[in-house]
Amino acid sequence: MSVVKPEITVTVLGSGTCVPSLERSSCSVMLEVSNSRLLFDSGPGTMRRLLRTNTTIFEVDYIFYSHFHPDHSAELVPFLFATKYPDMSQRQTVLTIVAGGGFEDFLARLKGVYGKWIDLDPGLLEIMEMNNQAADSLRLKAFTVQSTPVEHNPESIAYRITSTGGYSTVYSGDTDYSENLIALSNGADLLICESALPDDLHLKGHLTPSLAGNIATRAGVKKLVLTHFYPECDQVDIEQECRKTYNGPLVLAEDLMRIQIPG
Ligand SMILES: [Zn+2]
Ligand SMILES: [Zn+2]
Repeated sequence: MSVVKPEITVTVLGSGTCVPSLERSSCSVMLEVSNSRLLFDSGPGTMRRLLRTNTTIFEVDYIFYSHFHPDHSAELVPFLFATKYPDMSQRQTVLTIVAGGGFEDFLARLKGVYGKWIDLDPGLLEIMEMNNQAADSLRLKAFTVQSTPVEHNPESIAYRITSTGGYSTVYSGDTDYSENLIALSNGADLLICESALPDDLHLKGHLTPSLAGNIATRAGVKKLVLTHFYPECDQVDIEQECRKTYNGPLVLAEDLMRIQIPG
């Protein structure tokens, strides 16, 4: 039997929201692509979940922010502060933060509060802002990045990461129903999609299981992972709601779940 080596390994670090939960940490997903480790969002609790995967903060090469709501970004401050301990010598590689337009200003305002406590040496931190008005792309060493604006906050973008072998994963961030997300996800191997609330509690700026399923079907993705579950989602049959609109492989995210592509 031949064993196919995965090109992308996805680990759900937090499948929850702003609501404190022992089962579902706030939003964060780790992708391992080639030898790079990428975080998508860093809600509160991300560093402790990372430790559960035997990953230190110093091994994270990239953080991609979908938007700046605290349940997606709040661990950035303690992440940067911990990077300075004891003297920044533990970080051997550059930390690159990728985010929609406005991130430089967001970070500057955080520095207005925390000052040098979160200031890394310039050589250790690189910031890349993606266009939050139109589709954008970026070619990095071990993978390519495509992004597109989605329906949530002005800075909100979704990302598609494609490995050198052509395997792709899309991370929606928070969004309402989005034609841009459908276009970005076209034929993707995996779509990690928010599904914040059950169908009958649809909240503007968010998706439900059947709306996420509709997006996955129209995009023709090969596998759908639903995540970002408010507590109301744990009271209903999310899978059944998603099956109204989507027949393909479906995973309901749980913290520390791993998915390999190809799997
Ligand atoms: Zn949000
Ligand atoms: Zn959110």
